Amino acid sequence: MPRFWLRIIPQLLFAGGVALLIWAADDAVAALAFLVACLLIPYVRMNQKLDLVDEWLDSPGVENVPEGNGVWGGVYSRLRRMVREFREERHNIESQFQDLQEAIAALPDAIVILDAGDHIESCNPMAEEYFGLDKNRDIGQQISYLIRQPQFVGYLSEQATNFEHPCVLKLAGERILSIQLIPYSERKKLLLARDITRLENVERMRRDFVANVSHELRTPLTVVSGFLETISDMDGAPDPAMLKRSLMLMTGQADRMKRLIEDLLTLSRLENAENVLVEEDVNVKLLLKQIQQDALSLSASNHVIELDIDTEAGLRGSADELRSGFGNLVSNAVRYTPKGGKISITWKMEGKNAVFSVKDSGIGIEPEHIPRLTERFYRVDKSRSRGTGGTGLGLAIVKHVLNRHHGRLEVTSQIGKGSVFRAIFPASMVIAEIPETAAFR
Ligand code: ADP
Repeated sequence: MPRFWLRIIPQLLFAGGVALLIWAADDAVAALAFLVACLLIPYVRMNQKLDLVDEWLDSPGVENVPEGNGVWGGVYSRLRRMVREFREERHNIESQFQDLQEAIAALPDAIVILDAGDHIESCNPMAEEYFGLDKNRDIGQQISYLIRQPQFVGYLSEQATNFEHPCVLKLAGERILSIQLIPYSERKKLLLARDITRLENVERMRRDFVANVSHELRTPLTVVSGFLETISDMDGAPDPAMLKRSLMLMTGQADRMKRLIEDLLTLSRLENAENVLVEEDVNVKLLLKQIQQDALSLSASNHVIELDIDTEAGLRGSADELRSGFGNLVSNAVRYTPKGGKISITWKMEGKNAVFSVKDSGIGIEPEHIPRLTERFYRVDKSRSRGTGGTGLGLAIVKHVLNRHHGRLEVTSQIGKGSVFRAIFPASMVIAEIPETAAFR
């Protein structure tokens, strides 16, 4: 039985009973009036309460739920609870939505939501940056009107057939994006775009590097195999003088390959992130004296090589790496300075920094080449570099050694007058005085 009957029946029985008693007391009119009043009063009150609910529904809130008691009191307090719960739920959903929006906005990748007709429904700030979109202006626009590159338009028109593979897009300003469309829901699509410029550059560098190494090795190998072929094709014993000359030339080419492989191994050790710098106290003064001796024998007394040590300071770092870095700068000075030229090696303090510099009176370098000198295999004059036994890796090694010692390289040069290469080390790497036990091998 519905619950309201349980509430009404006792009231009706009571009113009917009282009306019967009044009637029994011989007053039928009073009995009828009492019965009518008993029915009318609750009816009026119910309408009154309904009116209050109707009014409240115009602006429903917890604060303005009507007050009441009895059945209506119960109804009102349930309404109040419902509204409170609804508000809490809405607040939770709103803050979750806000969190989600903030997370999407913070993503390093671009996200654009497209409807079934490829119109933009929403996008994050990264998408605005990558594609020059404007949330306020472009919502509702066809994406292909805004990203017009033919590869993208073609990719978009492939429809759900081939979205597993991303489409690579080159934007103005050298940015390269990998774009992936992900269909979801009712023919909607999620467009994800990731900046892969760095990855692509690394890949290009890897390809260039392999091509360069192959090229560098192929030339001496061709020379060696040419000689070997000529000698093996000869009828009878080769002429001893010619054999000697060939062997000398082959040794020269083998040395060139050996130097290249050694430099490549040095570079790969320096570039290996797992190969942490083992710091020791390096006696720079002794190190430079040895480098000066090496330079003198490389020059074969064709140059004046001066060493000016202006400080007792040493360096924290790897003696082997510093020897290789400084040695490359000094051997370059010798190789790129014509006979009779002068080379000055100095070690001094400039404020709190320690500075190693090599000044030569050599051929000099044109300004446009200077920023690229430390690139692997970059040569100003290819034939000259190879002629002097260069591998094209010396300054790349110098750059890595200095980076690992928190130092930097400065180059100034004048064509025909000479160059100055300066390696500058910060105070954190400088040791004011070298202890007796300083590392130097
Ligand atoms: P390489 O083995 O060819 O010398 P490096 O990396 O040591 O390679 O040097 C890169 C290029 O920088 C050289 O090919 C040369 O053209 C130029 N270079 C380096 N040092 C000097 C210098 N002291 N004077 C003139 N040119 C230099």
